[in-house]
Amino acid sequence: MPQRQLDLEIEDSTAALHKAWGKTLEGISTEVSKPTFETFFRASKPLSFESDTLTLATKTEFAKEWLEKRYAPLIAKHSAGILHPEMKIRIVLVKAAPDDQTRAKRAKRRVARGRTRGLFDSIPLNDKFTFSNFVVGTSNRFAHAGASAVAQNPGSSYNPLFIYGGVGLGKTHLMQSIGNQILETDPDSKVAYVPGETFTHHYVTAIRETSIDEFRNKYRSIDIWLVDDVQFIANKEKTEEEFFHTFEMLHQLGKQIVVCSDRAPKDLHLLDSRLQSRFESGLVADLKPPELETRAAILQRKALAEGVVIPEEILMYLASVVDSHVRALEGALVKLMAYSSLLSAPLTLKLATEVVGEYFAEKAADLSPQTITKSVCDRLKVDPAQVRSRKRQRNILLARQVAMYLIRELLGRSLAEIGEEFGGKDHATVSHAHRRIKELIKSDKEIKKLVRDLSTILRSGKF
Ligand code: ADP
Ligand code: MG
Repeated sequence: MPQRQLDLEIEDSTAALHKAWGKTLEGISTEVSKPTFETFFRASKPLSFESDTLTLATKTEFAKEWLEKRYAPLIAKHSAGILHPEMKIRIVLVKAAPDDQTRAKRAKRRVARGRTRGLFDSIPLNDKFTFSNFVVGTSNRFAHAGASAVAQNPGSSYNPLFIYGGVGLGKTHLMQSIGNQILETDPDSKVAYVPGETFTHHYVTAIRETSIDEFRNKYRSIDIWLVDDVQFIANKEKTEEEFFHTFEMLHQLGKQIVVCSDRAPKDLHLLDSRLQSRFESGLVADLKPPELETRAAILQRKALAEGVVIPEEILMYLASVVDSHVRALEGALVKLMAYSSLLSAPLTLKLATEVVGEYFAEKAADLSPQTITKSVCDRLKVDPAQVRSRKRQRNILLARQVAMYLIRELLGRSLAEIGEEFGGKDHATVSHAHRRIKELIKSDKEIKKLVRDLSTILRSGKF
């Protein structure tokens, strides 16, 4: 189900939800016996408040039944003043075994996916990427709304839908949610999830095996075309051209196209400017890094999906120290849960501090000329191989010089060592690069910001 988040005073705030639930509990505790309170209420956790429905998680079927049958009105009564005057209460089992209906649906989807797979021998959709698992916040609200509109009315609302944003911000998650939801409603729909790299691979293979007609026929039969990481086709002349024709053909047939990229259409620097204007002709939505409350909510949801309830203060702690992308957030969480279960230690703030400290230290220990170069390249959107080459295009040169500068500053490598690292350049080249960036930091605000951001990220191990 597409998910709307309603106005809690503080937008999207798990904190607000927890606060409201805390107040509700206070009210309830005055009306039931202590054991009842502990067993059924204290053990339940608020999951979300969407529209007029408060969703609570319990761990046992027994508790779920009791809450539903006996206590829903009581919960509604005590939360009404805080959340919504006509509260509906929904209770979910956190680790519910799939019921028959879900099982049947899943089987159906698997068949549908199998068909899609047959179509392309390519990547099946991942079950876990659904709209209901996606936490909405200010940073992603627009992209989420676009994606969910497309999933409801494929081919007619926004076509194409172009989503872009940095690594780990949920592009693939949203894109696959669209595919999963469409298959749910219409298992016969031919959904093809094709990363840019895969498209390139299909195309190159088709050329080599002179099976271009077959290639085109396959693509022509797609109903929903999900193109992830489209940046991989950029600057490959023939691939871009074929992509453009595929796009035109499907678009004219009214088939839904969704494209994800790590950068905006104009920043793809496509050789074919028509393709850029096609990308911009539908809805273009970007994803920004999630703000604190959204990060906490994402963690909450991930933990609950594992059947673990993480105390509020630890969630907030994790969300505040891990402020880069969602994947890093998940990494820290997984590590914390693993520790806690391995050591059979309770999840305390102290444990969280230790584990997260170690998590960052491990990452910082990974700091090497390669990781530095990679971060610089990611940031400036250039290919690391080109940075090591002799190419002197503006962006490549800049990336090379910034990487050299940072390697010298952060790792204290010698000029000669750094030269080696970049395909055997001499030490004068490295020295020049270092000087140039040092000067640019003084004279050019953008460069200053770039270098400062990169070194903060690299130093803290949050890359
Ligand atoms: P991208 O494709 O933008 O690099 P992904 O879609 O692969 O990022 O997301 C990385 C991880 O973070 C995935 O496990 C995804 O489920 C999770 N994630 C990202 N954003 C959210 C969100 N808003 N809610 C829940 N999970 C999220
Ligand atoms: Mg992705």
